[in-house]
Amino acid sequence: MKGETASSSPICTTLVFSDQPRCRILAPFGVRIKKGVIMTGFDGVLRERLEGMREGGSERYLPESRGDLIDLCSNDYLGLAKFPALRMRIAAAAAAEEERVGSTGSRLLTGNSELAEGTERELAAHFRGESALVFSSGYAANIGLISAVVGREDLVLFDELIHASLRDGIRLSGAKGWKFRHNDISDLSDKLARAPRRGRVWVVVESVYSMDGDRCPLREVVVLCEQWGADCIVDEAHTTGILGKNGSGMVVDEGLEERIVARVHTFGKGVGVHGACVVGSSVLRRWLINRARSFIYSTAPADTFFIAIREAVRMGGSEEGDSRRRALWERISVMEAVLGAAGLAWRGESPIVPIVMPGVAVVRAMATAAREAGYRVLPILAPTVPEGLERIRVCLHAGDDPAVYKSLIQVFEKRGWRAESRGGE
Ligand code: PMP
Repeated sequence: MKGETASSSPICTTLVFSDQPRCRILAPFGVRIKKGVIMTGFDGVLRERLEGMREGGSERYLPESRGDLIDLCSNDYLGLAKFPALRMRIAAAAAAEEERVGSTGSRLLTGNSELAEGTERELAAHFRGESALVFSSGYAANIGLISAVVGREDLVLFDELIHASLRDGIRLSGAKGWKFRHNDISDLSDKLARAPRRGRVWVVVESVYSMDGDRCPLREVVVLCEQWGADCIVDEAHTTGILGKNGSGMVVDEGLEERIVARVHTFGKGVGVHGACVVGSSVLRRWLINRARSFIYSTAPADTFFIAIREAVRMGGSEEGDSRRRALWERISVMEAVLGAAGLAWRGESPIVPIVMPGVAVVRAMATAAREAGYRVLPILAPTVPEGLERIRVCLHAGDDPAVYKSLIQVFEKRGWRAESRGGE
């Protein structure tokens, strides 16, 4: 459409659509017409903004799905998403147990079922909590949980690198939010000391940070919270299935289940399916059923959704899961050695490897080079990460051929990447 003029006044014109017969319409005020395209005034505004983003290299696109590339970017850390035995188990259980393809309503109306509640009892036992409540996604769980428990008068101290869904939850709660420096216990301590005591004080962290892959010093955070009477919420999106006995997460691994108000476990990463649950006390579950708007005002997931979660968590917690976790941690050690040899001191605390290459153009070019060499990695840009800390975020998997790690790093090195050029990490 570039270079075509658009009329800005109401006119009667002929529109030519590539796939439709010619039609005549009267364009009302505020509607701009280009050949073949109707733009409302607002479409024009959006187009201009997108052009600006495109020129700055920051417009996002849906990537093409290419099965021929080696996956070094999905969150399917244990490889369960494509594991035929899990697919078959889910299909068999669905054939035997599914009563309806849709849930027909919110859990508070007609959407509840014994299957949903039974799955939640099993999840509570798996994650060693008193109760669990399933949400349709980690995003819905985080905004629902935080906006339900945090009051307007409260203060939320949050790690500067927490996920957008946690930030959105804080915003929705209407409470004041203060960020503390990433994993910086002394900054958190200072802020706890300065926190006004009008309402409750909350501390929100992730067990493993999604874009940096490093672990939270959770025990220290919990001790500080107890010292200052603050309540702690932990997002375990990237540790579910990966850490702890049977993949039950970092909180269980560190024996902190009784000292944390709520944990969010997501099922779209380590255990290969979708959805999430909040784990906490029974009274918290009752409260969320009454106050978590993303739970209340949304159609309940269908039976197959609960079956998939139940079967995936069971498989993740089985010997199959254990052997995949072992394979994953072996690969994390291989990557640590490969990066060490390339001059990058990466501490393999999780399967997430941030290879920082500041600059949108640089990081996009590296991702393209990797794709041309047969690897699927994606550039991560602002606002997902701070400007200047653009990166390729490599994710490791239990089933990776570890030899590919060195080859991938060589692709970057051939394109001029050096460990020193990582920028402000
Ligand atoms: N929390 C974290 C830390 C995440 O990385 C993500 C997913 N990117 C979510 C929550 C959201 O989970 P979901 O994809 O299930 O909505």
